[in-house]
Amino acid sequence: ATPTSIMAGSGRAAELGILFKGGEHLEQTHHINTVVVDKTGTVTNGKPVLTDVIVADGMNVRVLLSFIGSAEKQSEHPLAESIIKGIEQECIKLREVRDFEALPGYGVKATVNQRAILVGTKKLMDKYQIDISHVLGTMEKLEAEGKTAMIASIDGEYAGMVAVADTIKDTSQQAIERLHDMGIEVIMMTGDNERTAHAIAEQVGIKRVIAEVLPEGKADEVKKLQALGKKVAMVGDGINDAPALAVADIGMAIGTGTDVAMEAADITLIRGDLNSIADAIIMSHKTMTNIR
Ligand code: ADP
Ligand code: MG
Repeated sequence: ATPTSIMAGSGRAAELGILFKGGEHLEQTHHINTVVVDKTGTVTNGKPVLTDVIVADGMNVRVLLSFIGSAEKQSEHPLAESIIKGIEQECIKLREVRDFEALPGYGVKATVNQRAILVGTKKLMDKYQIDISHVLGTMEKLEAEGKTAMIASIDGEYAGMVAVADTIKDTSQQAIERLHDMGIEVIMMTGDNERTAHAIAEQVGIKRVIAEVLPEGKADEVKKLQALGKKVAMVGDGINDAPALAVADIGMAIGTGTDVAMEAADITLIRGDLNSIADAIIMSHKTMTNIR
């Protein structure tokens, strides 16, 4: 493409809220044949709300929420924020916290009122040998509804479960259908569990899911696709997504997401709308064929 057509193309894209970092990105984007989308904040609105609280026999709801809230208060994870918001609405007092530890991809660990608290995934409970076999059915039911369920333990014993639900962006399904119509494969990648991921993917027509990816694993998954010869665009909003955005042939950051994601990406999609993915590819095509 000529410098003039690149300038014109960048300008038209910008009007649609698609900001290419450089002319070379506008030139490369039309080669994309695989789009990997993050789940939370990309396919969904990214503002999960607390929907379910389940307590172990003999455990008091308010006590449970107080322990969970105290541990999560120290976490910067969006899930923690949703849990805290829900708990604060119940006017529950939080407690003294020591030894807080974020366990990326798993949950949190802390000492609250001298008691050992864990909140997080099934894998986290397995790691600490906490028996949750009797509540797995309940957890699976919540996950099949597309909710993210997190288990809490106190002093090595199952204490209860909280679940949050996120809403899907109104435009996600249509945007993914457009990409499919263009012959592009769409894959959803998430740290969340398989069942929740598949429930969300199904609602937007995504057929392939890579779930339970640890934060440091997202970039490796992109590399694996590239090793198969695919030209990969990664679309994400989170700090976790930044390495994958950088490794992908084209990284697209959601404008409402974190600065870290935008710095790592080649394109910023100002509108959270996933239709911008197809628009960016079409813009690139038009620029390369010089059609106005
Ligand atoms: P993502 O942001 O893509 O959902 P993460 O890798 O950050 O993935 O987290 C994976 C899973 O680990 C979450 O779905 C949740 O079950 C658990 N988890 C992460 N952080 C927390 C937290 N602060 N509290 C409880 N669970 C958490
Ligand atoms: Mg996200």
